[in-house]
Amino acid sequence: MPARIEPIADRYSAWRLLKEGISGNRGWKQAWRKPEPKARYDVVIIGGGGHGLATAHYLANVHGITNVAVVQKGPIGLGNGGRNTTIVRSNYLLPSNTRFYEYSLKLWEGLEQDLNYNVMVSQRGQLSLFHSDSERDAAVRRGNSMRIQGVDAVLVDGEAVRAMLPFLAMDNPMFPILGGLLQPRGGTARHDAVIWGFARAADRRGVDILEHCEVTGIRRDGGRVVGVETTRGFIGARKVGIAVAGNTSRVAAMAGLRLPVESHLLQAFVSEAIKPLINCVISFGAGHFYISQTDRGGLIFGGDLDGYNSYSQRGNLPLVERLMGVGVSMIPALSRLRVLRQWAGIADMTMDGSPFICRTLIEGLYLNGGWCYGGFKATPASGWCFAYTIAKDEPHPFNADLTIDRFLEGRMIDERGAGPNPWAQ
Ligand SMILES: Cc1cc2nc3c(=O)[nH]c(=O)nc-3n(C[C@H](O)[C@H](O)[C@H](O)COP(=O)(O)OP(=O)(O)OC[C@H]3O[C@@H](n4cnc5c(N)ncnc54)[C@H](O)[C@@H]3O)c2cc1C
Repeated sequence: MPARIEPIADRYSAWRLLKEGISGNRGWKQAWRKPEPKARYDVVIIGGGGHGLATAHYLANVHGITNVAVVQKGPIGLGNGGRNTTIVRSNYLLPSNTRFYEYSLKLWEGLEQDLNYNVMVSQRGQLSLFHSDSERDAAVRRGNSMRIQGVDAVLVDGEAVRAMLPFLAMDNPMFPILGGLLQPRGGTARHDAVIWGFARAADRRGVDILEHCEVTGIRRDGGRVVGVETTRGFIGARKVGIAVAGNTSRVAAMAGLRLPVESHLLQAFVSEAIKPLINCVISFGAGHFYISQTDRGGLIFGGDLDGYNSYSQRGNLPLVERLMGVGVSMIPALSRLRVLRQWAGIADMTMDGSPFICRTLIEGLYLNGGWCYGGFKATPASGWCFAYTIAKDEPHPFNADLTIDRFLEGRMIDERGAGPNPWAQ
């Protein structure tokens, strides 16, 4: 179980809410400060997304390292942290990933108390549908692997799925729904609140969150890092952690590292609000499509990558058309809904579909990336393990396998199931 984290000052509570409500809301403090950069920090984290802020929070809270800055090129949370579809789950197949993501889910389960912030964790269940006998076999294998490792998994048959979700096109001639693998503890969390909660908690411990501070260079003295060049001047640092998701290879290149990572666009969509319809997260195995309903009533959905490298954060029309088609073949009633918004984020894809949290060959420089489609659910454990790695100069047991040198050594954690040579599939 996660270790106990010290409570923070200036707590939010029902009593505070009542007090502020009847006294004109004049006592609330800024959730985090807007400090000027210091000349030097013990640790600089590049990237004010969930992972960077969680790392700063755990550095300060768990390891007592408070002379820390998080540097972020715009406002915090405008990267993938604020663009994702908010799904949290730990239904992975391979032990290296299952261990890590299950630890993350456990941290999610206590996160609101630890941060003293409502991040709206909702364990409404995550159901991955299967459409053929071979997909059922794969689901059984995954479910068994999860249960052996102490993770909750339930195989549900077609009739049970029909009873749970009567609006699904169960008898689609191409993709009949034969059943699904349910993780009851999976669900969603409010992505923006996660960013704000970690930022506030880190700030309360003295971490400087430096917004509008883009890193333009990483300064080295021979084999060790000495600081970062930024749009707000040079900032010295004993240790520098990179947690910039889709920009990982670009930022690592500033230190002379070339990473086995590709940057791709991942789109998401939200519909107009409707009455409660979908009470869990559903993944459609046949076409890589997933959907859930937000607390405001909109249906939020997404699917595959656009399929070409880009940093545009916009996404393109062929994938929009394809996803709408897949969505309607799973829930025909979707065709009657209007899509309100569409957006895209930059996903840092590794060839085996697994992330890395590790040291580098450059002394004092650490890497956190390769989150592919799924880094939101990893946010707490990623921060926990990255903070540990930076503080102790060695991996935590949960990220011991998640090092980037596995690509050099051919030691893939092939969660994607594409084998060691995905280009040859
Ligand atoms: C459309 C979409 C849907 C997704 N859905 C899910 C989901 O349902 N579940 C799930 O688990 N995951 C999901 N993901 C993945 C998830 O959002 C990411 O893996 C996760 O948010 C990565 O967090 P991060 O903190 O590493 O990156 P980010 O939140 O992107 O933060 C990195 C930050 O670094 C900053 N930065 C970049 N370069 C620099 C620089 N030079 N100097 C300073 N700052 C810099 C960026 O501005 C950014 O704010 C989704 C992603 C997308 C795009």
